[in-house]
Amino acid sequence: MITNVMRRVYLDNNATSPVDPLVLKAMLPFYEEAFGNAASIHAPGQTARTGVEEARGRVASLLGAETSEIVFTSGGTEADNAAIRGVAAARRTRGDHIITTTIEHPAVLRTCEQLEAEGFRVTYLDPDVDGLISVSQVEQALSEDTILISVMYANNEVGSIQPLREIGRIAREGDVVLHTDAVQAVGKIPVDVKQLGVDLLSLSAHKFHGPKGVGALFIKSGLELKPFMLGGSHERGRRAGTENVPGIVGLGEAARRASESLQDFGARVGGLRDRLEEGILEQIPDTVLNGPRDNRVPHTSSISFDHLEGETLLIGLDFQGIAVSTGAACSSGSLQPSHVLTAMKLSPRRIQGAIRFSLSRMTTAEDIDYVLQTLPAMVEKMREMSVRR
Ligand code: PLP
Repeated sequence: MITNVMRRVYLDNNATSPVDPLVLKAMLPFYEEAFGNAASIHAPGQTARTGVEEARGRVASLLGAETSEIVFTSGGTEADNAAIRGVAAARRTRGDHIITTTIEHPAVLRTCEQLEAEGFRVTYLDPDVDGLISVSQVEQALSEDTILISVMYANNEVGSIQPLREIGRIAREGDVVLHTDAVQAVGKIPVDVKQLGVDLLSLSAHKFHGPKGVGALFIKSGLELKPFMLGGSHERGRRAGTENVPGIVGLGEAARRASESLQDFGARVGGLRDRLEEGILEQIPDTVLNGPRDNRVPHTSSISFDHLEGETLLIGLDFQGIAVSTGAACSSGSLQPSHVLTAMKLSPRRIQGAIRFSLSRMTTAEDIDYVLQTLPAMVEKMREMSVRR
């Protein structure tokens, strides 16, 4: 019997990534025999506690942090909320000004907007045409009342890497807290909290082959932060709620696996990304890269296809088994144009025709070949049809 199984290529890893089989294997015992509550004193509780603390060590080691500086959360969104609201509440008497950028994830943007409604002043820095923020923009925005700078490390739509280390230097000089949403950087490029000089850093497990619904916030030792989740004394009083033990163990294993593969991630995944990008830009006319060619994470590529709607192309690719995105997963369901590409001041036509390809360490050369075999003819056909209409 001949069965025709459609080839599936997953290039939407910035939305979420497949769980590494070793991560799942590490998690399963914590759903089964090691089901204890990590806050319990008895043996089952202590087994769970050991799992949580081992995971904390692995996350800390991936970031160059101390274990006491890692607090587990329900993901990147909670870590961003906890960082920004926590600093705002702790430093309100010192000042009311926050600096962020217009290309942040909604987890940061909506939190800042809410703080504005509560009386804080927020400066939103616009990126340049490549999606990059400059150090001098941050310097100019600083004022006596600035209490917090929140700038993402790597952008989720175009992959631009912000000059965090230099921003960290300015923040230290001005005694301003620096938070970074590093959800799209951790596990992909080296992230060392000491070298970057950040006080707070958010990460999320499901972006680097860990489970969904778990993440962490790095809180530099000694930093005052008001908890916004109140209840029991979990996570040393910094985040109440029974720990998601299997999820945390999964995050720890994902961090360990990421540390192992980090060295060749750039060369291997970046090499595949470049081949995909060059293939598209060379073979398909009227295509253009969005975002910087260089200061960019190795796994992300945003390309605009002129004379086409990104959504149409996304659906066409899906029919061929290829999963991509028109932008961020959280906004692609809405018909709003991408706030990142809009902030970069790209033309409406270029924004409408944008597709994001995001790779992972599980992406293969065959995956890229399949896309390059499929896409040119598809684009040509779709363009012909749209001209005829
Ligand atoms: N920050 C960035 C840059 C992201 O890309 C995402 C996820 O899309 C988040 C935060 C939110 O993370 P989570 O899905 O874990 O809440």
